[in-house]
Amino acid sequence: MRHRPRGKSVLRCPQCRSAHVVYDAALITGQRYHCLDCDYVGSFVLEEELPRSVEPAPP
Ligand SMILES: [Zn+2]
Repeated sequence: MRHRPRGKSVLRCPQCRSAHVVYDAALITGQRYHCLDCDYVGSFVLEEELPRSVEPAPP
């Protein structure tokens, strides 16, 4: 079995499933994320890998 190369991934909010999650460099505790849609703030977010086939082909 081979490990698949890390493709593109997107962060998703665990509350509203929005992909509008930004990294909030913050605090002593380390990483924190902020959802722009529902204002969720926390260190836990969902990470979803994007399948390559979804990417639009360059012209
Ligand atoms: Zn959210």
